[in-house]
Amino acid sequence: MDWEKHTDENIKRETTLLKKEYLDLSDKLIFFGQISCPICKGEFPIKTIPIRIKPISKQATQSKNKELRKAFERAIRSKIAKDRDFFNKTQDLCVSVVFVMGKESRDKDLDNMSKALMDALEGNLFENDSQIAHLNLIKFKHEENEDYIIVNIRKSNFNKHEDVINKKLNHTWAGREMILLEDFL
Ligand SMILES: [Zn+2]
Repeated sequence: MDWEKHTDENIKRETTLLKKEYLDLSDKLIFFGQISCPICKGEFPIKTIPIRIKPISKQATQSKNKELRKAFERAIRSKIAKDRDFFNKTQDLCVSVVFVMGKESRDKDLDNMSKALMDALEGNLFENDSQIAHLNLIKFKHEENEDYIIVNIRKSNFNKHEDVINKKLNHTWAGREMILLEDFL
């Protein structure tokens, strides 16, 4: 196998799994909020948790919004209390999150919103962030006045590689040398 030999084949295959049309924005939201992941071939247990809270952002300048973040974490924890320890500590997980942002919402970075949410979920819905094998993040913008978060979480089978016949790496790196950080220090 060579890295250059990728074709359009994979792209064509995956897009057929999505719906072509939605009745309204709620229909589209529900579809993506509950999306079954073709990558992880996830299975039960599955949790879909809509949380009616404005997404916040974990920014680089953390001290400024520390109080807000703590309140956000407490609020999320209170909402998911009944789902505490739902996933065991060693399971690989597939997590899909839709951040629904209305017209009044200030635009935020997807990765920073995700960090704030994951801080609240870690140690509650699951034990550790490192269990997440696949993280799917969507910013869903619309022109009405409603903000919330949909968390969809399930067991991931991706790293079991049950779909692989020969569980060996067998590709070449023709002309591409390993990049050593030491050379850039
Ligand atoms: Zn997945």
